[in-house]
Amino acid sequence: MSTDPRAALVVFSGGQDSTACLAWALERYARVETIGFDYGQRHRIELDGREPIRQALAQLRPEWAAKLGPDHLLDLKLLGQISDTALTESRAIEMQANGLPNTFVPGRNLLFLNFAASVAYRRGLSVLVGGMCETDYSGYPDCRDNTLKALQVAMSLGLDTPMTVETPLMWLTKAQTWALTDDIGGNALNELIIEHTHTCYLGDRQQRHPWGYGCGQCPACQLRAEGYFQWKSDNLPSR
Ligand code: ZN
Repeated sequence: MSTDPRAALVVFSGGQDSTACLAWALERYARVETIGFDYGQRHRIELDGREPIRQALAQLRPEWAAKLGPDHLLDLKLLGQISDTALTESRAIEMQANGLPNTFVPGRNLLFLNFAASVAYRRGLSVLVGGMCETDYSGYPDCRDNTLKALQVAMSLGLDTPMTVETPLMWLTKAQTWALTDDIGGNALNELIIEHTHTCYLGDRQQRHPWGYGCGQCPACQLRAEGYFQWKSDNLPSR
């Protein structure tokens, strides 16, 4: 694959999806930087894992190390002032009547992408890459394809420069996300994802499963586990 000369900013949380997006961008773009948001998450495990994942990816391939630029961690603790959810307070995670988990922070993704676009503009980066996904169970409306296409137009107009939003996972199932990273970086990349990325809502790093660390019970763990085993069973005949 020839390298896209543009430079990208990857919204990178330290979870499986955003790590897949970072690998995807490193494979594709000439220069890649990362951005993360500290918004008073109940568990810092995801944030703490970001730098080790970046270093592990750089060690995986010399050409990725050459492309990977600085990380930007923004303090967005002000989100705690405008949200009242299980992510920021000690409340049990449960599904609400509207089908969304109560971890929902209204419009959070819109805020993140607008901050990312400002940083990208300053850094001379013209592509934003995010792990938003419509096939996800959660159905966050600010992660939907049309929302992001509208945001891309608004940001490009508002910054008066092309700002492309790329969402490589938008139409992938969780099994297909494992397959994507297998395609990009083979077993070594998926082992890195299993060992280093964190998805569990409860912040459990004690229990190790074939698909990685987590409580195994929360919606995020269940989604990750189901995707992993589906990918494994899809692959069985050809291996
Ligand atoms: Zn969990």
